[in-house]
Amino acid sequence: MKVNWILYGRVWHAWARGDEQTLCHKVTSEKLQRKPAKAISEEAPTKSQCSFCRRILLPTTRAWMVIINRHLERVRGRLAIDTHVAIAERLATIGPPAEQRAINAYSYVRDLLLTPQVRSNKHGKPYHTFTGIADALKLLPLEDPSKLQHVIASADLWQRITGRALSRDKRFQRPRAIETMLEIPFTDMGAYIRYLRDAGLTNFAAVFHPNTLERVKHSGSMRAAFDKDNADYWEETKEQLNVIS
Ligand SMILES: [Zn+2]
Repeated sequence: MKVNWILYGRVWHAWARGDEQTLCHKVTSEKLQRKPAKAISEEAPTKSQCSFCRRILLPTTRAWMVIINRHLERVRGRLAIDTHVAIAERLATIGPPAEQRAINAYSYVRDLLLTPQVRSNKHGKPYHTFTGIADALKLLPLEDPSKLQHVIASADLWQRITGRALSRDKRFQRPRAIETMLEIPFTDMGAYIRYLRDAGLTNFAAVFHPNTLERVKHSGSMRAAFDKDNADYWEETKEQLNVIS
């Protein structure tokens, strides 16, 4: 991507050629008409770079932003720039889009975070929104990529055990489902999902609902799974995991 740097106020921002605004969206062509840039440079400035523009310029973050953008166009959804970047940066912790593993992970992130809900405004006109996405991202901090990995691996396990597709189970509340997933240790995840499946419960929203988790914790046959002192149970689980993998 070719960018020019413009000095606006005291900060240098990056401006991709052909765009209507800086990468960070802080300076637009409209703003420039009212108040021109102090300087323009093709070279990256050595100081006073906008930290947000710099984050967006990181190649892996940028590559994920392009992929997310294509998806947003397809579902006609809109994201605030900081949310867009936040998701791209989290995906970058897994790898670049050129890696199959990262693309697989992306499909779960897309289904978990980027499936818009259709709502109606007060005039009855439908619009697309990503409810709860900011709270969901707070549960998946950039500094701790293991949280995102746990959620992705759990969603994958849920699909394989239940035979359902996350892209079709759309009626879940994002932060609530993610918070519940994070409460279940991954070593227990398979047992938890299988237990519910055998009881006839497979829907994503129901499986990863705090009430369901509470109920399972107190049921006799699964209590052991959440009792960390039960050594026999852990041995047994480890064996089962070996058989499965
Ligand atoms: Zn900027």
